[in-house]
Amino acid sequence: MTETRDTVILGSGCAGLTAAIYTARAGLKPLVLEGHEPGGQLSITTLVENFPGWPEGIQGPELIENMKKQAQRFGATLQLAHLISVDLKVDPIRLRTSEGEIGARTLIVASGASARWLGLESEQALIGHGVSSCATCDGFFFRGKEIAVVGGGDSAMEEALFLTRFATKVTLLHRRDSFRASKIMLERAIAHPNIELRTNTVVEEVLGVEEKDVRGLRLKDVPSGNVSELPVSGLFLGIGHEPNAKMFAGQIDVDEDGYIKTTANVLVTRNGVVVPGVYACGDVQDRRYRQAITAAGSGCMAALEAEKFLEARGH
Ligand code: NAP
Repeated sequence: MTETRDTVILGSGCAGLTAAIYTARAGLKPLVLEGHEPGGQLSITTLVENFPGWPEGIQGPELIENMKKQAQRFGATLQLAHLISVDLKVDPIRLRTSEGEIGARTLIVASGASARWLGLESEQALIGHGVSSCATCDGFFFRGKEIAVVGGGDSAMEEALFLTRFATKVTLLHRRDSFRASKIMLERAIAHPNIELRTNTVVEEVLGVEEKDVRGLRLKDVPSGNVSELPVSGLFLGIGHEPNAKMFAGQIDVDEDGYIKTTANVLVTRNGVVVPGVYACGDVQDRRYRQAITAAGSGCMAALEAEKFLEARGH
């Protein structure tokens, strides 16, 4: 017989682990499926300076590790597994995971968001051969080289700044002339002697597919249409993220970009009607704030809702 859990949590980032701490402390013995990117986005970042309680900042992976330990201390089980399919229309909810089948009386979806790509054929062909979406994972390989970063938000600024530790020059390419990045991050990038910002510029092709190694970029200047080549050994994408909610297609409502729609913060709906026992928290349902602290906050809310739901059903 398939095991049924009071609470299964999808995702082990800030939202999922906070939900795990709360549901574990409520005695629900949650099972956390760690997903394709265990630890979520914090685990591939560097210094987190804005998480309250850490006046000097804390390394992202350390923060996540602390949350894991905290959840486990109260009885959460973490499993290196990912979801293959789910049936939300049955009670208990049925989940097929990479490790087998499981039932869940409540489900907390904290599957986060994954890095977005430009979608160029040449870019896809060169992932792992000079094209990366994770500066902290791959920056080390570009010591003494010149590289480019694409994007105009905080992620791009953070990547560019981080990559100056290794690269001799970082060219930051942004498709418009105004930035989404916060003032402080943008100013840091502008002030850095090894970062050059190029606005109104799009990448048309990553060069080096035949050589299986990035050797440059074909760029287009948007206003003039002029095309030029930029010789670089690496390309890092910092252009935002896609929510990981495709596996719920048709079963819960998502918005036009695939983010799970929530009502009363963490309740999910199907055709506008609340689906009992299913909650979404963190970046998979948050296109607006997307901060570690807001993800953690919504993870807490989802856990409290799950606890209340189970209590009402006498569990
Ligand atoms: P974002 O703010 O959505 O910025 C994405 C950037 O990529 C935008 O400038 C966008 O251009 C560009 N872009 C998107 N698709 C593109 C494409 N196909 N081709 C070229 N450019 C493209 O995403 P983010 O930078 O990942 O930040 C997300 C959230 O996390 C924000 O709230 C941010 O403050 C936060 N964050 C904070 C920190 C920190 O505080 N240390 C670090 C990272 C992220 P357009 O502007 O033209 O749309």
